[in-house]
Amino acid sequence: SPVELEQRIAEHVRDIPDYPKPGVVFKDITPLLADAATFATVVEALAAPFTTGAESGSEGTLAVPDVVVGIEARGFILAAPVAHALGAGFVPIRKQGKLPARTLSATYDLEYGSETMEMHADAFAPGARVLIVDDVLATGGTAAAAMDLVAKAGGTVHGLSFLLELGFLSGREQVPTARPHVLMTV
Ligand code: AMP
Repeated sequence: SPVELEQRIAEHVRDIPDYPKPGVVFKDITPLLADAATFATVVEALAAPFTTGAESGSEGTLAVPDVVVGIEARGFILAAPVAHALGAGFVPIRKQGKLPARTLSATYDLEYGSETMEMHADAFAPGARVLIVDDVLATGGTAAAAMDLVAKAGGTVHGLSFLLELGFLSGREQVPTARPHVLMTV
């Protein structure tokens, strides 16, 4: 059940205060990844609304995506097995300068300064249905940049799926055209 899943997640995510800087509580998912049963359950739950004929409450029935986009670095760890579970391809979004072929880029503001993310321009065919996966939806800047990249490449954002949402940061407001699927909101 969703409550049992939330309990499992809560038991396996570790809060690290003041990391990477004072005032931030870092959600460390490494204990969850190291626990085989919890990792498997979480991957299944991230993929569940996007399997053929799946019912996901308010989101209704959705077709299977063509590709799953994972955001460097923890997003990769979750997005790749989600892609495999859905029978979809995997596409990385990386920090600037890491991808070898021609890229598209999206820059977004951080608390101090800005960050640029990149995706290969030919990562998927125009019109592809794309699912975006990451570990944490915080301010939503990263998710909005990912949606921007998918749109620039001619894809359709089919959904967003996150392990955790930091509700107090209102990240959803940065992705108003999507209804992110989240396994747990804190
Ligand atoms: P944001 O753009 O603010 O929504 O931040 C999302 C990205 O930063 C994700 O890729 C997360 O992995 C990471 N992130 C932001 N805040 C946290 C946090 N408190 N704990 C762990 N990861 C975080």
